[in-house]
Amino acid sequence: MAVPFLDLKAQFATIRDDVLKAVTRVFDDQAFVLGKYVEAFEHACAEYLGVKHAIGVSNGSDALLLALMAAGVKPGDEVIVPAFTFFATAGAVARLNAVPVFCDVHADTFNIDLKSAATKVSGKTRAIIPVDLYGQCADMEGVMDLARAHNLAVIEDAAQAFGATRNGKQAGTFAHYGCYSFYPTKNLGGAGDGGMVTSNDDELADRIRLLRTHGERPRYYNKQVGICGRLDALQAVVLHVKLEHLDAWNRRRAEVAARYNAAFAGHARIKTPPVSKGNTHIYHQYTIRIPDRDRVQGELSAKGVGCGVYYPVPLHLQECFKQQGGKPGDLPVSEQLCAEALSLPVFDQMTNAQIDEASKAVIEALG
Ligand SMILES: *Cc1c(COP(=O)(O)O)cnc(C)c1O
Repeated sequence: MAVPFLDLKAQFATIRDDVLKAVTRVFDDQAFVLGKYVEAFEHACAEYLGVKHAIGVSNGSDALLLALMAAGVKPGDEVIVPAFTFFATAGAVARLNAVPVFCDVHADTFNIDLKSAATKVSGKTRAIIPVDLYGQCADMEGVMDLARAHNLAVIEDAAQAFGATRNGKQAGTFAHYGCYSFYPTKNLGGAGDGGMVTSNDDELADRIRLLRTHGERPRYYNKQVGICGRLDALQAVVLHVKLEHLDAWNRRRAEVAARYNAAFAGHARIKTPPVSKGNTHIYHQYTIRIPDRDRVQGELSAKGVGCGVYYPVPLHLQECFKQQGGKPGDLPVSEQLCAEALSLPVFDQMTNAQIDEASKAVIEALG
């Protein structure tokens, strides 16, 4: 039996009528950008997340860019970023001609290693971007302590963690800014691109609202140079329908992970992903660490069992950051994870038979 890596069609079948009704309403109104549908979704997100402000934006990458702009990051400033994350976390920094300074992560949780981060603080450091990778929170209390000691802005990249919690608080609500992505494959995914910035600070939130519409206030009077960073109404209504189901979907993802964990228990060569104390994990990815990763990936693919490598190259060794002089060996844990990490199928409509098939394929491939 083939097992898809992700099956969004199965999810859509469960909400088809509600989504099409909501989309039709937007077409009937012909009101496509920001406006009442986006505001209603923003309010629903703020309430769900328990945060004062939720601001819909064009995508998760722009969410990070807007947060960095609003935090006043300038050319030449340094921003600490884990080397093991999706490219956008560092790309947003580089787009402002600021410098992403890479630090290492923990091998078990894949999240930022604060000891490593602390060694990267310099007189030029302005901000730090911890990432809630694969769907569980980084040590956000520790990040905030480090930031307070050095007067850094903190932007929590919660693009993979909408609905995850840590010590009872939602991912993306710990820092000055929280950033989310609604890319279709994210656990709260739209029908195209979308994103969100959250903040508990009125003034910081206002800066995001200003910058997302070219810094104009009132219309055609530009106070600052911003970007075109608006969320579409079509995305907002689709996401609003999906938000109602998110907790149930996230619960099923956790069940999928628990079934994998049980299947892999006792297999010494498979390291399953632990959940840190105080965290709930929403498993944007279920990622194991194994030897011989590339061979196993090839064997799974040959059997039609979907899998993915997030991420094959640590950011300090990416070609586009070559001028910064990163070398193999600089951030050994990130480098090791790039060689060992394998993400297995996880989605809310996944059946137990599909989970069993995928786990059996991994165990067989490892011999
Ligand atoms: C997806 C993602 C982003 C970027 O989001 P887009 O909506 O694709 O721009 C940023 N950071 C992380 C960790 C992500 O996974």
